[in-house]
Amino acid sequence: MEKANRTTKHKIATIGSHSALQILKGAKDEGFGTIAVCEKNRMQPYKSFRVADKIIEVSSFREFMDVEDELMAENAIVIPHATFIDALSTEKIEKLKTPYFGNKRILKWEVDRAMQRDWLKKAGLTLPGIFKNPEDIDVPSIVKFYGAKGGKGFFLAKSGDEFARKIAEHKGKAYIVQEYIIGVPVYIHYFYSPLTEEVEIMSFDRRFESNVDSIGRIAAKDQLDMGLDTSYNIIGNAPLVVRESLLPKAFEMGEAVIAASKKLEPKGIFGPFSLETVLTPELQFYVFEISARIVAGTNPYITGSPYTALRYNEPMSTGRRISREIKTAIAQGRLGEVLG
Ligand code: ATP
Repeated sequence: MEKANRTTKHKIATIGSHSALQILKGAKDEGFGTIAVCEKNRMQPYKSFRVADKIIEVSSFREFMDVEDELMAENAIVIPHATFIDALSTEKIEKLKTPYFGNKRILKWEVDRAMQRDWLKKAGLTLPGIFKNPEDIDVPSIVKFYGAKGGKGFFLAKSGDEFARKIAEHKGKAYIVQEYIIGVPVYIHYFYSPLTEEVEIMSFDRRFESNVDSIGRIAAKDQLDMGLDTSYNIIGNAPLVVRESLLPKAFEMGEAVIAASKKLEPKGIFGPFSLETVLTPELQFYVFEISARIVAGTNPYITGSPYTALRYNEPMSTGRRISREIKTAIAQGRLGEVLG
């Protein structure tokens, strides 16, 4: 691959976790200098994989604000991902001084699960039912806590009694109870360019979550004997190509989410985002979640996906697509349009 020239004084920075390898590699491929903000004991990948020109050490990601002056002096543009949003909180992100790729104001619509549902409903998507009152639970349901924690601590309940027993361990946490949809989980990765007003499908993934993706390895009888409870802690992601006839609907859903977001906040959502769905045997997409930023499900595609291979004649990850957007915006004198 041809080595890109350094084209800009700007650098691309992010927190060393989640999808940072991909974001920084993509930035380098687009000719940007790169900075990883790392916790001391989590630096090795960013050194070993040679994606960061500079590593700034913090004792905790929560101290990110303390290194802002250094980042500003480097002309950094910050790229958010789930760890970044979780470590800083939406309130702190809104106060960041460092230029930030994406629309900060859309984040609260993701973090608050009730607001998120409102957004997805306004987009006209099919959603799992919810139980406002957990005592009313009468179908298999999933109990989810707020914040992007990769499914940690989620549990299933089939009745109000089961809910009451299991929630006892999680006192004081905000949660939502959703109908559990049986089908194949499919995670759709989009990129929306505010410069061209076009939505792209970058890729799809399936996840491996512990222990739900491993209990099928033991017999049902043993599962019962062991008194297992399912949990959904994300371990990793694997590539997926869907039936081609599902693509028109996938595009339609992405476009609907973007259109709805523009009514929620000025500029709406732009850059990468993901719809997390379950596809039933009737091929109905149930959307159970939106992630309003890059998702780790794009990590298998650092050299591009089967879909980006169709559109780009070069390896195009979602991380690289972000830097391509920033580079194009700079070249067109429109950088402000991609910063939030
Ligand atoms: P992230 O932000 O990393 O996507 P999260 O903490 O918001 O994670 P969800 O993605 O909402 O969690 O849910 C975690 C997992 O639980 C999903 O990947 C899926 O396997 C399962 N799940 C969630 N909602 C449903 C549902 N309504 N029906 C069936 N399975 C579900």
